[in-house]
Amino acid sequence: MEQSAELLTPRRMTRQITVGGVAVGGGAPVTVQSMTTTKTADVEGTLAQIYALASAGADIVRCTCNEEAAAEGLAQIVPRSPVPIIADIHFHHEMALAALEAGVQGLRLNPGNLRKEAEIKQVAGEARDRGVPIRIGVNAGSLHPDLYKRFGGATPEALVESARMELAYFEEVGFSDVKISVKASSVALMIAAYRLAAETFDHPLHLGVTEAGPPPAGLLKGSAGIGTLLAEGIGDTIRFSLTADPVEEARAGRQLLESLGLRERKGLDLIACPSCGRAQVDVIAVAKAAQEALEDRKLPIQVAVMGCVVNGPGEAREADIGIAAGKAKGHLFIKGKIVRVVPEDQMVEALVTEAEKLVAEGIEARLAAADAGAEAEAEADRLELLDEKGSDPNATAVKIRHIRDRFAHPEAN
Ligand code: SF4
Repeated sequence: MEQSAELLTPRRMTRQITVGGVAVGGGAPVTVQSMTTTKTADVEGTLAQIYALASAGADIVRCTCNEEAAAEGLAQIVPRSPVPIIADIHFHHEMALAALEAGVQGLRLNPGNLRKEAEIKQVAGEARDRGVPIRIGVNAGSLHPDLYKRFGGATPEALVESARMELAYFEEVGFSDVKISVKASSVALMIAAYRLAAETFDHPLHLGVTEAGPPPAGLLKGSAGIGTLLAEGIGDTIRFSLTADPVEEARAGRQLLESLGLRERKGLDLIACPSCGRAQVDVIAVAKAAQEALEDRKLPIQVAVMGCVVNGPGEAREADIGIAAGKAKGHLFIKGKIVRVVPEDQMVEALVTEAEKLVAEGIEARLAAADAGAEAEAEADRLELLDEKGSDPNATAVKIRHIRDRFAHPEAN
């Protein structure tokens, strides 16, 4: 931790929740979130964006779950995502139930448009049974109309009251695995609402300025709102909402935390896949070996360690360089293109050698120096693995069947 963080107001102590493996609140490092802009039903496109977001500094990624096809997409995305996935839910509680069925690690509910008490409690009960946390995501722009009337507008008190009411429903079913946001597009309103929320709740707070717009204005608004609160010790996880490529959101979030000394500056940027049913190697062990071998070399590049050559090079095509396992070999790739195939026990060594050359000579030069035949060999390995493991190594078909059953027989739920 940089010394500057010690000069800020001490961080407010909150309860801690865990989103997938990522702790939020209770003294955990402040995390960065972002949201995909792809259709969630587009599994490959969404995963590529999730990897790009993770490379840019996102610790947690949110995807919309607005239709049955999106829930089915989530069932396939979650086991292959390098970071925990939160499903964003509006209007339809059955989407929340389907997302839970898909295995998401968190839900975001908007109390302004998901209003039926029985439905809210049903979702909270199911989340409780599955150990999945929920964010109560209040938004000034979609505040419950009754509260709008009662408070004479979207005031800080109205936003906090909306969260309190939702929390009360949750507590009635014994669920308190919750974080809270009270976002607004007005920076002043958002700051006041979060200050009040910090006095009212001991739950972790997710900070954000909504509809901040395109950069640079959006960046300034987000930084003013989120930065002010963080300097006051308020906030446990943050998201910039920009009208831009979400990679910019993740990058901005990360840079803001680094500038306040709340997160350490990253030297080597290494991402690893979560190692799903397709993995051909112990990804954690290889990632650790790669991290150790590369760490001291201070190479300013992104490196990906991927469990299989079937999907790895494609999923991590945003990374500068990476290695994917398969058929007892390591498939070395640069920007998603296979440049060399080596025996598995030499994969880390080959990765380090190539990484150094990449920094010295540049991407174009190293792509031009690719081994002839590497791509064809990797493709053959890929096809063999596809044959061996089939199209559903993560057994998502069962989850998808459950999701379809839910939509086919809503009365049974
Ligand atoms: S094992 Fe392959 S498909 Fe599974 S998460 Fe890793 S790279 Fe993706």
